[in-house]
Amino acid sequence: MAPKAVKYLDIAIVGAGMGGLATALALAKQGFKNIHVYEYASNLGFVGAGIQLAPNMARVLDRLGCWADIEKDAVDLKDTSIRQGSTDNELGHVDLRYIRDTYLYPHMVGHRSSLASSMYEACKKEKAIFFHFATSAGEVQSWGERPRFEAIPREGEKYTVECDVLFACDGVKSTIRDQLLRLKNIDAKIIDTGQAAYRIMLRREDMQNDPELLELIDKESVTRWIGEKRHIIAYPVSSKQIYNLSTVQPDQNFASAPSATYTTKGSKPQMMEVFGDFCPKVRRMLDLVPDGEVCEWKLRVHEPLPFWVHEQTVLVGDACHPTLPHLAQGAAQAIEDGAVIAVALSKLPEVTPTAINKAMRVYEEVRKDRAYTLVNIAAASGRAMHLGEGKEKEERDKQFAALKDGKGPVPDKWADADIQKTIYGQDVMKITEEEFDKLYAKM
Ligand SMILES: Cc1cc2nc3c(=O)[nH]c(=O)nc-3n(C[C@H](O)[C@H](O)[C@H](O)COP(=O)(O)OP(=O)(O)OC[C@H]3O[C@@H](n4cnc5c(N)ncnc54)[C@H](O)[C@@H]3O)c2cc1C
Repeated sequence: MAPKAVKYLDIAIVGAGMGGLATALALAKQGFKNIHVYEYASNLGFVGAGIQLAPNMARVLDRLGCWADIEKDAVDLKDTSIRQGSTDNELGHVDLRYIRDTYLYPHMVGHRSSLASSMYEACKKEKAIFFHFATSAGEVQSWGERPRFEAIPREGEKYTVECDVLFACDGVKSTIRDQLLRLKNIDAKIIDTGQAAYRIMLRREDMQNDPELLELIDKESVTRWIGEKRHIIAYPVSSKQIYNLSTVQPDQNFASAPSATYTTKGSKPQMMEVFGDFCPKVRRMLDLVPDGEVCEWKLRVHEPLPFWVHEQTVLVGDACHPTLPHLAQGAAQAIEDGAVIAVALSKLPEVTPTAINKAMRVYEEVRKDRAYTLVNIAAASGRAMHLGEGKEKEERDKQFAALKDGKGPVPDKWADADIQKTIYGQDVMKITEEEFDKLYAKM
């Protein structure tokens, strides 16, 4: 719990996504009293999509008091099956039941709206958190000692927000990051991943007349069908009432307008064509998507940034470590950011701009290597899954074959036990608690 003077810091958070909600809630739990969240959207009406709820995310959310609520309708995974997209032949199978015993939390899958709304409901119970919806952050007028930015409500006059510390939780398209990079004359290039994703949610009633599809929604399992430059990952969510599919394929629709849009209405015939050589079971599922309801996302990342903290302004989540989704860790890492920030800020030895900056550089120190390591593993995992015919694919498939005898690494990295140890075995809040004084003294 933070000492009294620290608790009254004026805190501004831009963005009420995964990172913003986690940061606000974690700070309130540490006893901070003045937490203002500015969100562009008019409410948190969330995009329908599934999300993997990894044990490192669950551990943080449990401490923030909202895991039990999320867990209620999430699905506890027993295993994962990686299959050849064209034939449905199983390439690899990994039992995931050991995870709960080893890391004390299960690996679950759930609905994104359940995750976000549980965090939001937990925030609303905190008197210290004030939400300002339909309000976007515009120009940052000062970065410190008291950061100042323009708040632009959808209705009414613009106004200036001044605070002691500003958290940019404004996602992959972060305009605060862009302003900061311009200020420092740094060109962190957008990396065009060349990949896009369809996100699909099928209702149980649409699958129930097809025994093969019903079997999928009834299993506590993640299935990944892979093919050259494409894959589909799928799992049941919402107490098995919804089957979530997330695809990855070469980006054709965004390539011509790389910085303008990130989501677009997709074309169903095009989606069917992209996965035209996948097995009939997969194509039957894709065909269940109503015409006009195909939603396509561009997958975008940035080069790593040299810093996440400038004076008293702090980058969080996708604003500083956007990732490909292949490791299912983007939201988990944004949530870890919020938890580490709150621990570090609560340990401020004095209330000065310099101390705030140093404490936030401790956050950066604890988080940066870990987050960028996972970004790189996600990219490598995507490359392994998307291989076309050739030597590398032969090697990969040998690894899959060895798995049948319980040996060797899993090419689909989120299911690899060593990678899981790296991700789930690290308690970032505990590390921050234990290392803060030493790291702070070095800053
Ligand atoms: C296909 C796909 C699948 C994924 N699957 C998983 C998964 O299984 N597990 C997982 O952990 N992660 C997953 N992710 C990643 C995860 O969704 C993101 O990493 C996560 O949402 C990042 O959180 P954030 O808070 O940084 O950004 P966001 O959640 O994007 O939130 C940013 C918020 O800021 C607001 N905002 C933006 N600009 C402004 C402004 N100027 N003023 C005010 N508000 C503003 C936005 O409206 C938004 O609410 C997936 C991503 C994709 C694309």
